[in-house]
Amino acid sequence: MKELFREFDFTKVGFYQSLLESQGIETFIKNRDVSSLAGEASIMPELWPALCVVKDEDFDRAMQVIRESNSQNAVLSQVEVSCPSCKESNPGNFEMCWSCGGTLVETGPGE
Ligand SMILES: [Zn+2]
Repeated sequence: MKELFREFDFTKVGFYQSLLESQGIETFIKNRDVSSLAGEASIMPELWPALCVVKDEDFDRAMQVIRESNSQNAVLSQVEVSCPSCKESNPGNFEMCWSCGGTLVETGPGE
C-alpha cells in the first residue's frame, strides 16, 4: 500500500477515490473518521484522511490520473481570457466580462 496524498477536506479525498476506482484502481483511505476530530485535526496532517493505492504497482497510474484531473481544474480557474470587446482580461471560468458585461469567447484547451 502506498499513500498518494492527504487532505483535511474529506470531500476531495472521496472524490479522488471514486475517480481512481472508476479507472479500475483499488484504493484505501486511512484516517477516514477524521471529521469526528474536527478543529484540532486541521493542524495535524498526520491525522488527515490519506488516499492510498492498495497495490504499489498502481501508484504511478493513480498519480497520473490525479495530475490530469488537477490540471484540468487548474486550467479552468487560472487561464485568463481577454474580452473580445474591451480587451480586459478575465478569469477563465467567467462567462461574462467583469468590465463591460460582454460574453466571453470560450477557448477550450487544444484549440
Ligand atoms: Zn469587456
